[in-house]
Amino acid sequence: MNIRTNLIRTGAALAAVLALAPSALALGGRVGDIAGPAAPAAVWRIPAASLTTAAQQTEADWRLLLVNPWNALPEDYEVELATLANGLQVDARIYDDLNDMLTDCRAAGLEPIVCSAYRTQATQTRLYNNKVARVRASGVPEDQVEAEAARWVAKPGTSEHQTGLALDIVAASYQILDEKQEDTAEQQWLMENSWKYGFILRYPSEKSDVTGIGYEPWHYRYVGKAAAAELHRTGLCLEEYLGEAALPAAELTPAQPVRPLETVPPETADI
Ligand SMILES: [Zn+2]
Repeated sequence: MNIRTNLIRTGAALAAVLALAPSALALGGRVGDIAGPAAPAAVWRIPAASLTTAAQQTEADWRLLLVNPWNALPEDYEVELATLANGLQVDARIYDDLNDMLTDCRAAGLEPIVCSAYRTQATQTRLYNNKVARVRASGVPEDQVEAEAARWVAKPGTSEHQTGLALDIVAASYQILDEKQEDTAEQQWLMENSWKYGFILRYPSEKSDVTGIGYEPWHYRYVGKAAAAELHRTGLCLEEYLGEAALPAAELTPAQPVRPLETVPPETADI
């Protein structure tokens, strides 16, 4: 067991968290899925319990915490972290299922690598500000700079990586965050089996207009085994499962989703 847990609080403890924050950060902001075509409305089986607000959902079940461009993480959100063998951290409550999934994936002869996991608000802010600076330097009109930057790097508070429930996994043989990632044997295995361990491919290609994030065949999110099985069976994305699809279309149409192209830092390693 190589688990160190740290009770993380925003504010005073943030500096301490930063010292532990992984340097191997992928700038994932916009993401997608592979769960297949959207299920017809007739087979939607949104649990009655999910027909509540996102805040109520979170209170009821931490595994269904919804963080997206329209739902920022509460500023007082705190999470107990477990540290992976490569130094990256995740919500301690998902460690065992994550370990089981990666262990079984390796047993199938594959080499999955976790290249990005928990990020602090400070880290996400730094990534976002860096992107804003680069966009501004590229000559984009000032009144469009922030919107353009947000297409590539989630605004602080709206990245799922800040929950500790999301992680980016790549194949050892192809460590680039682009659409070709889906062709690796590792992603094929994860897309077929991750739900059995409580994980979903969070941003399917067909759901970008609902999630607000482009296709990301490497970003997995823990939702628990029951919800993951239901999402796998129905083809719904998390927003739809939680009933967010009932929102007016205007509220579900963020900036045009984009496809990120980011190289995984060389210092990455697996769990
Ligand atoms: Zn990600």
